[in-house]
Amino acid sequence: MTSKVLFVVNIDGDPDPETTPPNNPVVLEKYQVMKRIVDDHAGGKGSFCVQTSPMYRTRFFESPFTDFWHAWVKGGGDLALHPEEDLYCQPEARLSTGTHYEDAERMRNVIADGVIALARLGLTFAVYKNGYQAQTPAMVRHFTEAGIGIDMSCAPGIFWPEKLADWRSAPLSAFYLSGDDLGEANSLQDIGPLFEIPVGWSGLPSDTANRLLNTQYLVNEFSDYEAITRVWDAIVHRGELEQRTQIVSFLCHTYTMADATYSDRLKRSLDYMVRNGGEPVSPREAQLRFDGGL
Ligand SMILES: [Zn+2]
Repeated sequence: MTSKVLFVVNIDGDPDPETTPPNNPVVLEKYQVMKRIVDDHAGGKGSFCVQTSPMYRTRFFESPFTDFWHAWVKGGGDLALHPEEDLYCQPEARLSTGTHYEDAERMRNVIADGVIALARLGLTFAVYKNGYQAQTPAMVRHFTEAGIGIDMSCAPGIFWPEKLADWRSAPLSAFYLSGDDLGEANSLQDIGPLFEIPVGWSGLPSDTANRLLNTQYLVNEFSDYEAITRVWDAIVHRGELEQRTQIVSFLCHTYTMADATYSDRLKRSLDYMVRNGGEPVSPREAQLRFDGGL
């Protein structure tokens, strides 16, 4: 049997990292462009981040976004809790070094509040995703206790200690997380199993600092079509060598979806993946397939 690659479209719904437009219809229109692309090119399968941040604690749990989340789930997608604690922070609360992710008590509250807010809408989070690929045992403990069993914060090879991102020893295909995978001495033995879906990586070093996602990753905004197809081919090749189905995510952002350069790149990249051994799945489906032996 030929091995294949299951991929999850990993959608970051941040409104805009620079201008953070307060205009809901503008943001929602970009979400709808993204949904149409994923519907048409990936069967509606993927993970869509619901952003919570110091600037927007409740914004995305309210109208007009609530109907959108219901439609997304109905179409076959999953939802991810996405606290952006540093990037979407009021200027006076911005840290000159370090990260708010370090504050375990703060993150416990952010996670618990987010889970409750979505439950009020009659929906549940399947997935968790931090900004900057950060992850700590404390955050893992909090969101698994809150019922979230899949994490998509992982990007193998990334090392940004200041932001608590250390995936230097992470596997390149989906796996169940242990303390060693987080690159920290802390034990995760007291938490339940956590399914980790990493961003697709070529496995090759890159000429930018390894704290950043770049042309060696499956990422729509910080790469280009040719590089994305090269990374994809490397992942397919890895699956053939290992004789094992690979599970990775393809990270993309909604804030670019009013720009045809990015939306066309996304469509072409998804089509390339599907044409070349790829099968789009939701995070929950990815876990079921993994558990079932693929
Ligand atoms: Zn984000």
